[in-house]
Amino acid sequence: MIRARDIKKAYGRTTVLRGVSLDVKPGTIHGFVGPNGAGKSTFLKCLVGVVHPDSGDLEIDGVDARRNALEVRRRVGYAPAETSLYHRMRAVELLDFAIRYHPDSDLERGKSLLDDLGIPHDRKVGALSHGMKRKVILAQAIACNAPVMVMDEPMEALDPEARRIVEELFRDECRKGRTLFLSSHDLFSTQRLCSQVTFLHRGKVLRDGPVEELLSGVPGRLHVQLRTPMDANSLPVGGGLSWTGEGVNWQVGFDMSLEDVTRQLSQLPLASIKDDSSNLEDLFERLYEHQSEPES
Ligand code: ADP
Repeated sequence: MIRARDIKKAYGRTTVLRGVSLDVKPGTIHGFVGPNGAGKSTFLKCLVGVVHPDSGDLEIDGVDARRNALEVRRRVGYAPAETSLYHRMRAVELLDFAIRYHPDSDLERGKSLLDDLGIPHDRKVGALSHGMKRKVILAQAIACNAPVMVMDEPMEALDPEARRIVEELFRDECRKGRTLFLSSHDLFSTQRLCSQVTFLHRGKVLRDGPVEELLSGVPGRLHVQLRTPMDANSLPVGGGLSWTGEGVNWQVGFDMSLEDVTRQLSQLPLASIKDDSSNLEDLFERLYEHQSEPES
């Protein structure tokens, strides 16, 4: 649904995108992750035509984005990170204004999304909290009904309950066949939502692939609770087990099969074992640990 090849962008002497290539499959939720300054927002802006790449090929829903920017805008619902909105408008007026350009937009749906997200329709945008403004931005990107949604940090400023509602809304839209490409620093939400993730570093793709595949290379981790306190010297270390913690509470890292770990642990006075492994946060730390800081 989105096909980018070797997208490059520089602002003066600052090179922001150094040849980004990626594919977003139709009907999927695809995450775009990376440290601040990696170039995520710039790339998303290239997708929606707010920023023009210096070179590279970009195709969205079969349309050449560099040749036919207007057509692409109709096919993409965009939720920018900025909340510098039209402050004098009422929430519902802003929604109406933002979606009008899209051929299949649905104002009634937009209003019901505002209700779901607890936004008073008639409140002036300037009087909304930051999180509420973010919700209006998300509502318009959904209610425009464009086949592709591009969202820049959609979970930012949302409370846990709102995140849960928004995650469910995103899943519903994708079940209907829409495609969502989103950047996020919330890696737990990204892991819950996305089937594919692209990691960006200094304007280049560092890793990219289905979430299960990316996580299969991350060492396992268990949270172990013991019935009686033990010190580190008496814990088993064979086969590369590594322990952190003290007393009865320990985390054990391992790089072997779960069967082998449980065999090693069976000699301990176990109260409980909880699987605490394979998350995108760990992968993020591993991927970026040996990379230098992004250039400003
Ligand atoms: P991210 O979204 O990953 O945090 P951005 O795409 O916002 O990264 O920014 C990447 C780099 O591009 C940063 O160093 C930022 O300062 C620079 N940048 C972004 N927009 C502009 C601009 N309009 N002019 C000059 N530099 C910019």
